[in-house]
Amino acid sequence: MRGADPYISGHGDLRYAVAHYDLSLTYALPSNKLDGTAVLTCRALEPLSQVALDLRLKPLKVSVAGRRVSRHKFLGGRLTISLAEQVEPGEEFTVTVKYSGNPGPIRKRGQDPAGWEELEDGVIVASQPHGAPSWFPCNDRVSDKATYDLSLVTAADYHVEFSGEPVAVQRRGANRTWTFRQTEPIAPYLATVQIGRYTVTEQEAVVPLRVVGPANIKRHGFAASFGRQPEMIAFFVDRFGPYPFSGYTAVITDDPLEIPLESASLSTFGRNFASDDWESVRLVAHEMAHQWFGNAVTAGEWRDIWLHEGFACYAEWLWSQECGHRSAEEWARHHHGILAEETQRAPLSDPTPALMFEDWVYKRGALTLHALRSEVGEETFFAILRSWVSSHRGGSVTTQQFITHCSQAAERDLAGWFRPWLDETELPGLPG
Ligand SMILES: [Zn+2]
Repeated sequence: MRGADPYISGHGDLRYAVAHYDLSLTYALPSNKLDGTAVLTCRALEPLSQVALDLRLKPLKVSVAGRRVSRHKFLGGRLTISLAEQVEPGEEFTVTVKYSGNPGPIRKRGQDPAGWEELEDGVIVASQPHGAPSWFPCNDRVSDKATYDLSLVTAADYHVEFSGEPVAVQRRGANRTWTFRQTEPIAPYLATVQIGRYTVTEQEAVVPLRVVGPANIKRHGFAASFGRQPEMIAFFVDRFGPYPFSGYTAVITDDPLEIPLESASLSTFGRNFASDDWESVRLVAHEMAHQWFGNAVTAGEWRDIWLHEGFACYAEWLWSQECGHRSAEEWARHHHGILAEETQRAPLSDPTPALMFEDWVYKRGALTLHALRSEVGEETFFAILRSWVSSHRGGSVTTQQFITHCSQAAERDLAGWFRPWLDETELPGLPG
């Protein structure tokens, strides 16, 4: 099947939207066995006689409340449900899927594996961009944002986190049931579960802030990286506007991880990032900045990934200057020099699925913002960032909308100014 977004072929269905996922999961660590029931509150966007869901575990039972399912088919990670009568556009319907299996990362040609992943002693879920169906049935398109309730039962000696607010923990025998809620609409790839032998440290900050990780994590390097999160979040609130979720949690796994990853209101790091090395500190800032750019304001299609990565990368440079390291201007000159030596194979506005997470997308995105800052001036630039978030929080955006937004704020048409940065491969010079 064609799918909704050419960047993750075969995933997503444009014919309907999910408003809410209610997920009840039971997970056994030793056998990596996940049993789940997912209740999806959906709305038809066009006349609908079929609903496609993305899922990599085995569906055991499928039903649609109040409607007769004529049949369902499960093939190649797509669960297609055929309805006996058509659903009219705007009508709501509820799909329930009971499912089970041994979850693992989803492999797609030309991209890194993504999704549910077993650690040495625990689990992470890092779904960007195509990993969500590794653990729950979903309409896996980045533009389909929904709220969540999650409950997860697992062995009582493990700590569980979810990309949402903790609601309750109840012990029953050898198990504990963890419940969470996410009331802000988020894309499927931004939902995550984290399981490990963790302790929780609350940090005093302008936003409820927590570090969750192994008890011995606070040795060397912690103070310079995660220890500065309270200052970092206050600085970002000042530059980007109100924090868009109910809290922020940094999960630090006992295993070292190659790269950290953002999810809604939570980011996942390996213990190697609890370091005073700038390469770690910058990524602590980067993942936090994604809460505004990527998680609250989300690209409607993956081709616009620079709206996430360029902004998060620029936030690294802003934090660098704020904490007395190199200035944003110095970083811009440094990375411009590196990119100028390379031949770019695609434009920033359409980097291709194979290159969407390449470093040049991040750096050229940040350079575009830095150049925009000189073009429109300091005050207008930060006003643009704040109003971009406040106007689109909880929604999906396009590059064209960003150009229009900037033009309105600057009170002149900036389309021609953006073109060489976004649509051409040759690197424009930096102003000044
Ligand atoms: Zn990023």
